[in-house]
Amino acid sequence: MSATYNFCAGPAMLPQPVMQKAQEELLDWNGQGVSVMEVSHRSKEFIALTQQAEADIRELMNIPSNYHVLFMHGGGRGQFAAVVNNLLGEQGKALYLVDGSWSSSAVDEAKKLAGDEMIDTLNIIEKTHGVSHVVLPELSELEQEYRYLHYCPNETVDGIEIFEEINSPWPIVADMSSNIMSREIDVSRYGLIYAGAQKNIGPSGLSIVIVRDDLLEYPQLPQPSIMDYRLAVKHDSMFNTPPTFAWYLAAEVFKWLKVQGGVAEVAKTNARKAEMLYDFIDSCDFYENRVAKDNRSRMNVTFYLKDESLNEQFLAQAKAAGLVALKGHRSVGGMRASLYNAMPLTGVEALVSFMKDFANGNA
Ligand code: PMP
Repeated sequence: MSATYNFCAGPAMLPQPVMQKAQEELLDWNGQGVSVMEVSHRSKEFIALTQQAEADIRELMNIPSNYHVLFMHGGGRGQFAAVVNNLLGEQGKALYLVDGSWSSSAVDEAKKLAGDEMIDTLNIIEKTHGVSHVVLPELSELEQEYRYLHYCPNETVDGIEIFEEINSPWPIVADMSSNIMSREIDVSRYGLIYAGAQKNIGPSGLSIVIVRDDLLEYPQLPQPSIMDYRLAVKHDSMFNTPPTFAWYLAAEVFKWLKVQGGVAEVAKTNARKAEMLYDFIDSCDFYENRVAKDNRSRMNVTFYLKDESLNEQFLAQAKAAGLVALKGHRSVGGMRASLYNAMPLTGVEALVSFMKDFANGNA
């Protein structure tokens, strides 16, 4: 079978060596004669796995010791709710920056749980001649007291990424579901970082939460115990049975990332991959991208065929060429190539070469 490159936004492709290892040891993990899916989460072997996973993510992201790392259920949306329930209390207010679909969904969930009046929002996208760009507000000028500021540094649907550091007088809560570990960040600038796993970490369902210890003292709202950060800390993320297989695969992805040279190294490749694709799109009249250069996502490259009547043909021929899941999100249309850590440079080369041929054949 020739190579298939999977550009799905999530669940996304995982590193091939990780998948191969999982396949090899699927029926016999750690010489125990059973699958990792079939062992107790409280067995010493599984606990060793979780400890290694935590040590590895701490090393990969350079997470300071006053932060906890939690492995929780419920993906990204689970955290839309957990953040509110754990950090807002009865009287707290929060500010949400809106730069696309997911930050907007986070606002909806927050308002549902805390009430409209407790959640302030600021739209930070401006459109000039159909091109979106991010305009960050001067937050120190705002009079209001907030428990936290929420934002989404990479909007998966819209293909918008914020590379600038945000200066906030309040703890920053960041939804890094689609760009965690894709480039180096300074964790100490954040109060809390969360991510659904199914892009750069592992299978869906799992979410990673990195939370500074003082935020655990915040007044909480009543909530299901399985979403409670304090209980998760107290029980080493095992208040109830965790998604063990997802955790195992995440642990393997972390090991793979270390072998690649860590986040700094994959970040270089990620920059090259994105640049190659954007440069090609810009050089060619047949396609267009509608995001300002400074805010173009390295993880989710959105683009449109100028003649949209060719969309179905483009997708069918791409699929026949082994380039799958290029359809843009239904809410925005067009195309989207997701280039997470596991996507090799050769995948992007193959995509650019296909796009070139398709443009020449249909010009
Ligand atoms: N936030 C972002 C930035 C996302 O990309 C997604 C999923 N694509 C979510 C949140 C929601 O994640 P989940 O489907 O795991 O709830």
